[in-house]
Amino acid sequence: MVHDGNDHREIIPVNYTLLISELQINRKMKEIGEKIREDFKGEKPILIGVLNGAFLFLADLIRYIDMDLEIDFIRISSYGNDHESSGHIKVLKPLNADIKDRSVIVIEDIVDSGLSIQFLERMLSAFRPKKLSFATLLHKPSKTKTDITLDYVGFEVEDKYVVGYGLDDQQLKRNLRNIYIIKP
Ligand code: 5GP
Repeated sequence: MVHDGNDHREIIPVNYTLLISELQINRKMKEIGEKIREDFKGEKPILIGVLNGAFLFLADLIRYIDMDLEIDFIRISSYGNDHESSGHIKVLKPLNADIKDRSVIVIEDIVDSGLSIQFLERMLSAFRPKKLSFATLLHKPSKTKTDITLDYVGFEVEDKYVVGYGLDDQQLKRNLRNIYIIKP
């Protein structure tokens, strides 16, 4: 099957349905980028991308934040190739930046159960940042069991497995430009 994007056609499996288009993603990115610039005026925040899923979101978002900033990445694991969170989270790639007394924004692709973000909040707080904020492109509120405040949310989505724009289908499809739902 072929999905006709704005200026780009992408080939997708027949069981994929379009959820959020590249155009909608770009518009939202601009909105969040401008808000972050306002909220962190006069500072040099560090944006920490959570690998692998958030790599595209971080890369695109920072181009809409018109100020000095730093980036770093952390990699954690909990899912393996399964669709449900195991709750056992490991750090696979630690931070390199020193975040003590810095304003930090954690950049996630999607908050589902919220266990990953809760783990990151506890772990990163121990480094004593000045401020710890969370941005996520997608949020599944009906699935979230934790009460961490999400400061920037791109889109709220229903409880379906989503793929594309950094989000994987068994490690593949991260390179799709739009976000799709996999039909059961
Ligand atoms: P949580 O700990 O909030 O349950 O899950 C967070 C992580 O699980 C995300 O960073 C993402 O890697 C993965 N994840 C959760 N829901 C989905 C989904 O619908 N699609 C994909 N591709 N990954 C998901």
